[in-house]
Amino acid sequence: MTEADDPSRERLKHHFAQRVIHQARQILEIWQRLHRSEWTSDDLQELNEANLRLLRFAERFEQPEHTEIAHHLNQVLLAVEDNRARLSSELINELNRLMQRLSRTGLRHGDELDLTPLPPLRKPVYVLLQDSERGERLAMQLEFFGLHAQALDSVPAFLASMQECEPAAIVMDVDFGGCGLGLQLAARAQDGRDPKLPLLFFSLHETDTPTRLAAVRAGGQEFLTGTLEASSLLEKIENLTCVAQYEPFRVLIIDDSRAQAMYTERLLNGAGIVTRTLTDPIGAMANLADFQPDLIILDMYMPACTGTELAKVIRHNDRYVSVPIIYLSAEDDLDKQLDAMSEGGDDFLTKPIRSRHLITTVRNRASRARNLKSRMVRDSLTGLYNHTHILQLLEDCAFRARREGKPLSFAMLDIDHFKKVNDSHGHPMGDRVIKSLALFLKQRLRKTDFIGRYGGEEFAIVMPDTDLAAAHAVLDEIRERFAEIHYPAQPLDLCCTFSAGVVQMGEASDSLTMAAQADAALYRAKGSGRNRVQTVE
Ligand code: GH3
Ligand code: MG
Ligand code: MG
Repeated sequence: MTEADDPSRERLKHHFAQRVIHQARQILEIWQRLHRSEWTSDDLQELNEANLRLLRFAERFEQPEHTEIAHHLNQVLLAVEDNRARLSSELINELNRLMQRLSRTGLRHGDELDLTPLPPLRKPVYVLLQDSERGERLAMQLEFFGLHAQALDSVPAFLASMQECEPAAIVMDVDFGGCGLGLQLAARAQDGRDPKLPLLFFSLHETDTPTRLAAVRAGGQEFLTGTLEASSLLEKIENLTCVAQYEPFRVLIIDDSRAQAMYTERLLNGAGIVTRTLTDPIGAMANLADFQPDLIILDMYMPACTGTELAKVIRHNDRYVSVPIIYLSAEDDLDKQLDAMSEGGDDFLTKPIRSRHLITTVRNRASRARNLKSRMVRDSLTGLYNHTHILQLLEDCAFRARREGKPLSFAMLDIDHFKKVNDSHGHPMGDRVIKSLALFLKQRLRKTDFIGRYGGEEFAIVMPDTDLAAAHAVLDEIRERFAEIHYPAQPLDLCCTFSAGVVQMGEASDSLTMAAQADAALYRAKGSGRNRVQTVE
């Protein structure tokens, strides 16, 4: 027997790879904390230590990608130390880039780590339903969506599992183990925890306010009643356990006083917010286009122009109508402040400002603005990019791929015989299938892929750095898995399939050609029997 196929050695490797990933997660958790508050030197030290552990594990267990990231992280953290433990915009960007890579390395399907093969990469979701058969079914459906779900059918099984492994979330029937006992069991599991575990309560029947209150007190963040459906449940779990890719907020500071601007920068950088400063307001428009800030902080009085004048100029441009503008000034005349606000400003902060006040204001405004913006490019039913935006993304990616000499693939998907779904099960069921395919794609594709809803039951996927063979393999796997999903329906469960056309960017092709070619391939996939992925050679 060679070393390579010795099963105990394989198991060990497997186990070690898991420890590396666990360590990577800890680092990501510390990083996420930065975006909830300001960073202290203790946090920095904690991150440092966690990273050194990762480096050690990754080297010992031969995980080259993790080793490389940990090395880089170490260098950046040394640079932060050299900077008297202060973050700057460059350092935040650099850290963020590495953290994103780290999160992909841990969670991505199909990369070299998966060959080992690893156990599911996420913490489990414990599902505790009064009807244990239903719990099993639900857990299985969640597994299809790439989640690691485990149905538990007794209180001792739950307690033992909790001992063994902390879950990512708990789905608890309020009556699990007896009338109202689920509530108590969950409350005990949450007792003394900070932060609380993501907890979703379920009740088969509509319940009264006291039960709902008890659920809130037991730390329940959601209360679901009636039929539990995997895809909507998954959406809730995703929201609660969000390890969403964090993009730092970007703030443009326009202030003629360099000292004041630097002070503001330092406060914001300390909370993980990336800044750029402009002391000459005349350069504002060029910097807006180039930096694409989430928010602008504007001084009231500058030699070249006043803040309110500049705000008007900014608002003249359609693209920046909704970027929040906050005035930061020593002006304490309330009338003048109110005038400034009516001239395109959103808020007025007076100097000297407390750091918490500034950071909270910036975060709230910026996050709401981002939210609004994302609603403009996203489809409301699925949360995917809309038709216009996905084509824009394809164009951007084609441009980048050509510049970097990397492959790019584009796919179009269309659900098969979808009219029949609507006709025999109703429009709401049709919507549900569309939503679930959207979620399914989000779960199974890489974080670097872009997914759009192209039309009714049509989807488009932009896959950077992916050649035709790889794109085909990924989509075909998704196609097979998707067909396995059962949607509860009468008299028979409903199953759906989709067809797809894929194309890789050629020497001379542009985004429009690619879209047309993918569409033609999709048409051929339909013509040759559906439920297949057709490539353009
Ligand atoms: P094929 O396998 O050839 O794609 O057959 P199909 O039935 O899917 O054919 P077609 O693409 O022509 O029909 C799509 C149908 O999808 C038509 C429309 O009624 C339905 N549809 C479009 N948008 C929505 C939507 O948002 N929700 C629901 N429920 N149905 C939609
Ligand atoms: Mg169709
Ligand atoms: Mg169609």
